[in-house]
Amino acid sequence: MLATDDPKQQRIIGDFPILAKPTSRGKRLVYLDSAASSQKPQAVIDALVHFYTNDNANIHRGVYELAERATADFEAAREKVAQFVNADTPEIIWTRNTTEAINLVSYSWGLANLYPGAAILASQLEHHSNLVPWQLLAAKTGAELRFLEVDAEGRFKLEDLDRKLRGVKLLAISHISNSLGTIAPLDILIPRAHAAGALVLVDAAQSVPHMPVDVKRLDVDFLAASGHKMCGPTGIGFLYGKRALLEAMPPFLTGGDMIREVAYESTTFNELPWKFEAGTSNIADAVALGTAVDYLTGVGMDWIRNHERALTAYALERLRMLEPRGLAIYGPREEQRAGVISFNLADIHAHDLASILDTEGVCVRAGHHCTMPLMRRMGWPATARASFYLYNTEDDVDALVTALEKAARLFKVA
Ligand code: PMP
Repeated sequence: MLATDDPKQQRIIGDFPILAKPTSRGKRLVYLDSAASSQKPQAVIDALVHFYTNDNANIHRGVYELAERATADFEAAREKVAQFVNADTPEIIWTRNTTEAINLVSYSWGLANLYPGAAILASQLEHHSNLVPWQLLAAKTGAELRFLEVDAEGRFKLEDLDRKLRGVKLLAISHISNSLGTIAPLDILIPRAHAAGALVLVDAAQSVPHMPVDVKRLDVDFLAASGHKMCGPTGIGFLYGKRALLEAMPPFLTGGDMIREVAYESTTFNELPWKFEAGTSNIADAVALGTAVDYLTGVGMDWIRNHERALTAYALERLRMLEPRGLAIYGPREEQRAGVISFNLADIHAHDLASILDTEGVCVRAGHHCTMPLMRRMGWPATARASFYLYNTEDDVDALVTALEKAARLFKVA
């Protein structure tokens, strides 16, 4: 059941206070931009207030009770995130977001392990966060940056995978494309990359919030995600890395907290995970991310994945009815797609389209979605993008379709 009369669905919607606030035009808020950032349940908002009201102090330093409590909350949140992705707790490094986690690997592992003649393999689908760091690393080390190609529907072309993997030291790949919703075939890519002698970094910004992700089952070497896309606050994310790899890597940022012993001449570094956490961390947001993980686990990651799968199928079915009126829908078919749908309506610019949808309370993203090379590869100047999460329903999809029909009328495209 997807409609709002499902009691579980109703409870979930009720957990997100912002969804009850009408827009300035008095419309119901139809939030279809969770791929950019998710809304927050009351429990997460409360966790932030609770921390600052009751437990706030700097961590790992004070010996007084309050500081010990703050430290315990902070480390308990790390443990929750570790369990959420089936990692060992010291393998979870707090970062600001996915972008910082990828940069950490690029600077720390990349500078030490790449050289002229070595290669990095990404895909044509990558977000700038999983592309620009590798461009810079390639330029610094003399390594080559290559791309796995996708077809016109954004599906991976795997025919020449083994050739592409020759000499590759790192495969850096997004689990789910934020532009097209393509789910990468990690069960094929990761073993093949390992067999070719490469490590694998997965940009899981769009997967960890939406489906069960198990780093051990995937056998991934590094995995990056952002708290703000998984019902948590902004400013907190994490890197998972296999312990032996993290132990062998030099620190990324340096300063307080990441040290064991400092003399004027030299320094020894802290153990994992703190070796990679220089300076005062984003304590309250990490704690609240722990609450977000509790919340998602309570709902059930399988439930969320199935809900989004059904909703995406419903949305594609309804949107296809608008194809005769000029709606172009991009991306792969249902089986290979997560809850992301990019589209254009006739020759209306995506920004204009998104502005019209906004007048109906429907929030969608418009533009290049931080995937400029992909837009160029596909020949689209921009797209509008609807993305779903646990709080969206068939009613939201219906509102999107009605708003698109209004846009078609306004622009007289049908
Ligand atoms: N990778 C993907 C696939 C994303 O969708 C995003 C966010 N849109 C990022 C990386 C970057 O996430 P953040 O801005 O939280 O670092």
